[in-house]
Amino acid sequence: MSSHPRSFRYRLEQAEPRLGPGGITRGASVREFPASIGIAGVSMRLEAGGMREMHWHANAAEWAYVISGSCRTTILHPDGGSAADDFYPGDVWYFPRGWGHCIQGLGPEECHFILIFDNGDFSEDHTFSVTDWMSRTPPSILAQSLGWNLDEVGKLPKGEVYFARGPVVTDSSAVSTTRKAPALVATHRYPLGAQEPRRVPGGGIQRTVTVDEFPISTTMAGSLLEIEPGGLRELHWHPGADEWQYYIEGAAEMSVFLAQGTVVTERFEAGDVGYAPMGAGHYIKNIGPGSLKVLIGFNSPRYESNELSAWLATNPTDILATNLGVPAELARKLPKESHFFIPAAVPGS
Ligand code: MN
Ligand code: MN
Repeated sequence: MSSHPRSFRYRLEQAEPRLGPGGITRGASVREFPASIGIAGVSMRLEAGGMREMHWHANAAEWAYVISGSCRTTILHPDGGSAADDFYPGDVWYFPRGWGHCIQGLGPEECHFILIFDNGDFSEDHTFSVTDWMSRTPPSILAQSLGWNLDEVGKLPKGEVYFARGPVVTDSSAVSTTRKAPALVATHRYPLGAQEPRRVPGGGIQRTVTVDEFPISTTMAGSLLEIEPGGLRELHWHPGADEWQYYIEGAAEMSVFLAQGTVVTERFEAGDVGYAPMGAGHYIKNIGPGSLKVLIGFNSPRYESNELSAWLATNPTDILATNLGVPAELARKLPKESHFFIPAAVPGS
């Protein structure tokens, strides 16, 4: 029995975290998860007032999805503009490569979000942090830059802070008693959870955000799948994007077809990450008793997929009969339309 050539599963939430005041992070770059050449990801949690410090990424844009809690981000635009936005469960953010940003948990409960980066080499341990920079810059330069004297400069951190904890911001927009997610799209925020989904009765629902709905997101797109018990996200592939998956809830079987007789089939549960390389065939089946919820990030601004059912439906019966070596009457029973999600098989059918 041959062993799998590689695994397309990484047990992210079982990995050793990086801890700091107010924050916890677990990351998966191509170093931890060798299959994930094109996309890296991070699961981060911030307590109330916990802050991921001001930083930027030289080699990746950041696409995020909030699973629970709320947080505030601030971001500097290269044209001198800026934005501050609050995020709630179901919201997505996008920060272009190189733009400086920070994130603070608004409490009262922990904020948990998934960060997805359009570069498998990306690591949260190699971000450009403002305290790392300041602590290695000559004090006289800092004094000149900040308008402080040298004693004051001496109070700055002596190394990278990464996580900091302080009071939760108190201006009125952050202490709204309703905690209702803002319904409108902002420059850096897209309320994916509020979107009317594509529905296949008995199969599942899909919400997708691309550059068409969220114009700043010029290098990435994302999708949220909820698949019913026994339901299948059918066999398909993406011609122009790698796919990075975070299993939020439930249990799945996910299989990656790599050509040359190689298919890798693995089981996934909440907290696991999956990866389907650009062009590789794959499916996701809900094998648990409850709903399966999967967050998917793509390193492409648009969502494009080729469904096996669509391909079969668009070929003449005699072509299919010859290709598959089956009688024409069997070929005629093949799908007549694209399915996307396929409900659990009815017993006896
Ligand atoms: Mn970041
Ligand atoms: Mn896919």
